[in-house]
Amino acid sequence: MKYALVTGGSRGLGRAVCRKLAAQGWPVIINYRSNAEAAEETQRAILDAGGVAELLPFDVSDPAATEKAMEQWSESHPDDYIAVLVNNAGIRRDNLMIFMQDEEWRKVLDTTLNGFFFITRRLLKNMLSQRWGRIVNMASLSGIKGLPGQTNYSAAKAALIGATKALAQEVAPRKVTVNAIAPGFIETDMTKDLDQSELKKLVPMGRFGKAEEVAAAVAFLVSEDAAYITGEVISINGGLYT
Ligand code: NAP
Repeated sequence: MKYALVTGGSRGLGRAVCRKLAAQGWPVIINYRSNAEAAEETQRAILDAGGVAELLPFDVSDPAATEKAMEQWSESHPDDYIAVLVNNAGIRRDNLMIFMQDEEWRKVLDTTLNGFFFITRRLLKNMLSQRWGRIVNMASLSGIKGLPGQTNYSAAKAALIGATKALAQEVAPRKVTVNAIAPGFIETDMTKDLDQSELKKLVPMGRFGKAEEVAAAVAFLVSEDAAYITGEVISINGGLYT
């Protein structure tokens, strides 16, 4: 059986992606770091809707923890492989660069960029040998245009976009596609400290996006209809490009 793994699948965009992929028939693996309650809520919603969902907590920025979790999953699923990987786990630690602490820089890069590297390298082997795979990386508008106060986050997301384009070319011959999504302002826990009433004035559509509007694009990229799309970055931002 082919599974879909969504990192940071317990809340926000990841939760919407898990629900959408499960509704399309994918058995889903919900990864998260620490908030088990949110992850269980996501799992329950999928099971209640008749889908298949498993929990797999590990810190994506920790290579040993990632390896251990994947080894355990493979042992308990000898006949299955993870064909879809959505690299969605991410954090913000905003600060002006002049005040930015080493830890704020490192944590953001470790989660978004190193997290992408550890789990993707691990899962590529099976995708390549099975000659089918889909990788979707959750980048950001911040990684395309850069946002002040987010040098760490913009750097991590821009690097993720570069890695998406490079890896897409490496694995295309084996029918593995690698794409990125660049959301603008989407309503989740990550943006709840932002002044939505002010910031939405910057958005041509006059509102923040919904997690489901991002999940729909992920589902398309994962589908057979998107087989010839790779190395692409899809912006979902209500018209807010520059
Ligand atoms: P969120 O609501 O804060 O959820 C973050 C998710 O990532 C949670 O499931 C969290 O798990 C998980 N996570 C964080 N660090 C992790 C780690 N080290 N290992 C494993 N899981 C980890 O964020 P969101 O708004 O849904 O954002 C999802 C992705 O979209 C992020 O990559 C973000 O940068 C990107 N994005 C968001 C927006 C936006 O406007 N919301 C815009 C552009 C891009 P726990 O609950 O266990 O911590």
